[in-house]
Amino acid sequence: MSRNVYVFAEQRDGNIQKVAYELVGKARELADTLEEKVYAVLVGQNMNEKAGSLIEAGADGVVLVQDEMLAEYTTEAYAKAVVAVIKEKDPEIFLIGATAIGRDLAPRVSARIHTGLTADCTSLEIGDFPLVAAPGKESEQKHNQLLMTRPAFGGNIMATILCADFRPQMATVRPGVMQALESCDKVGTVEKFDVAFDAADMNVEICEVVKTNKKSVDITEAKILVSGGRGLGSAEGFGQLKDLADALGGEVSASRAAVDNGWIDKDRQVGQTGKTVRPDLYVACGISGAIQHAAGMEESEFIVAINREESAPIFGICDLGIVGDLNKIVPKLTEALKKN
Ligand code: FAD
Repeated sequence: MSRNVYVFAEQRDGNIQKVAYELVGKARELADTLEEKVYAVLVGQNMNEKAGSLIEAGADGVVLVQDEMLAEYTTEAYAKAVVAVIKEKDPEIFLIGATAIGRDLAPRVSARIHTGLTADCTSLEIGDFPLVAAPGKESEQKHNQLLMTRPAFGGNIMATILCADFRPQMATVRPGVMQALESCDKVGTVEKFDVAFDAADMNVEICEVVKTNKKSVDITEAKILVSGGRGLGSAEGFGQLKDLADALGGEVSASRAAVDNGWIDKDRQVGQTGKTVRPDLYVACGISGAIQHAAGMEESEFIVAINREESAPIFGICDLGIVGDLNKIVPKLTEALKKN
């Protein structure tokens, strides 16, 4: 019988990614509801010392698959490792981060074990669900199902998806959507899980790993974000946002309209097709607050909106709204902050 909640603990260069701890946090909540356990699946090489951090993050145990073939991520070898763990452990639920690696790995794994996969979930809950039967047949109530909710139809509706007949119930979740737990001094097990690899498992050859030398900023880590939209009018408009962000000790982010206009890099985009952020302070300047933008920032601790249109939807989700021209307000705010 399928049991327990498993999480793929993504690592890069031997560093466990933040999304893995976030998923362990969510898995803990789901497993507690089901009265089951949480296991993190850590795949790589020389990861022994890092496994304990997943237990501190809330896992009951870590399944550690190590091999020299797993030193760098490759689809075939990692899929083989994860599929082997799933076949042996028969999880009820399996969660993967919707990162570049997770988006590559998850569909491969779900296809091999013949189960469904719901991508980019924004909410995961355990609940009951009535399955409406075909005419003439009785409807059925499914208990303790994973209710996987994600935006659909261009973000205009939220769809809750169920995988009633196959196990595990698989979902991917983007970084920043779930919250990691405070680290605890929990006791757990680390199980070494052997998978026999051979040359055929490496159907690609990694000739060289080229790291980008562009200093990229991870806006999901920032405590303060000053975000700009189409209302800035140009790439130059971001200069005044940078000044404000510097005065606040934060970073600059943007709406998709600003990114699509080529005013700022895509890695700073907030929203449904950008990043999900949860800073202590989010200052939205010249952003209307479309549902797809709000999806990526509405969980921020404190939201300030500056917009010249009183009817802009952003005023419906902010904690403090300033109606006016950002070109006048932003420099005044920066000046006042610098004085203090
Ligand atoms: P606008 O909606 O044009 O708003 C500009 C605002 O600036 C207006 O409210 C205006 O009143 C104000 N303004 C203008 N001049 C000034 C001034 N001088 N001072 C003060 N205020 C001023 N969007 C995202 O942001 N992130 C996403 O990830 C994302 N994903 C999407 C996915 C899908 C499938 C789809 C269909 C859309 C997505 N969008 C996303 C686009 C989204 O629907 C909006 O089009 C976009 O967020 C609008 O960006 P904006 O608020 O900067 O521009």
